[in-house]
Amino acid sequence: MFGPSLLRLMVVLAVLALAPPAPAAARRETFGHPTRPTMVRVRDWARAHGLLVKWVERDKVLQITKGDFKLVLNANSREARINGVQVWLLKAFEYRDNAGYLSQLDVDHTINPLLYPPRNVGKNRVRRICLDPGHGGKDPGFQVGSHPEQRYTLLLAQELRRQLAQAGYTVILTRTTDSTVDLPARPALARKVGADLFISLHFNAADKTRATARGTEAYCLTPAGASSTAAGSDGPTLGSLLGNRHDAKNFLLVYHVQRSLVRKLGSEDRGVRRARFAVLRDATMPAILVEPGFLSHPVEGRKIVEAAYRQKIATAIVDGVRAYRRVVERQK
Ligand SMILES: [Zn+2]
Repeated sequence: MFGPSLLRLMVVLAVLALAPPAPAAARRETFGHPTRPTMVRVRDWARAHGLLVKWVERDKVLQITKGDFKLVLNANSREARINGVQVWLLKAFEYRDNAGYLSQLDVDHTINPLLYPPRNVGKNRVRRICLDPGHGGKDPGFQVGSHPEQRYTLLLAQELRRQLAQAGYTVILTRTTDSTVDLPARPALARKVGADLFISLHFNAADKTRATARGTEAYCLTPAGASSTAAGSDGPTLGSLLGNRHDAKNFLLVYHVQRSLVRKLGSEDRGVRRARFAVLRDATMPAILVEPGFLSHPVEGRKIVEAAYRQKIATAIVDGVRAYRRVVERQK
């Protein structure tokens, strides 16, 4: 018998053969997803998946639940919360004419990875982790007073390596000294050593006009067709990148690490975000980039330069990796 996908392809081909030739542009737009809308009516989608929908604040805050999954949406905003964690949607949740709409991109890449989590096939286990201390050598990263970012990303990586090794993981660092490592060389090394995960470590900083900026944020690669989180960043037109092969696991990992970080540190939750950072673009395994705090904040910055706080950050990342692993290595 033909597999369902082959059968579907044959049906599509048959329909195409019968249909009058469409203009090239229209064909390009619709081929592959002939009936797939870009926005999904929340009530219909929720009903089809057994989710409960209710307004927490009428016409403003919508809550969608199923079991212990809870998604909170704000009308005409990209800010959402999933099980208490701040998540930036790929497109704003639209509320118009008494109906709410979510983008299909968010259903596919923000909600489904948590509602229907991916699983590692066969005996694939998360064992080998590549840590990437941001910057180094010619590139110090942010410089706040006498504190270069590159120093603290390396110190954090070393502490995290210690804790991960203790938990039984094999750990590889993209640099072990204050040395220059090109961006493409970082995911390339992870690939060469056969890493199962790639975690890039950074610290944030803001200029003097935003001295109060603080908190934790974490990134995974922006899915194809979506815009990155930060305003003024890349548009939605970019096609699929190497790192997009792991969109679902990228999101699952970044979600669990962000959740663990904000809980453990008690820091301001700046959310799970998307960006097309070079180190994420080229990663051939699930990959994330974390910014646990702001070096430039008078209080948070002082903590980051202390070993005890970095120890806490490392523990939170280990817990996040463990939570991710429990999900992808589940039996059923
Ligand atoms: Zn950095």
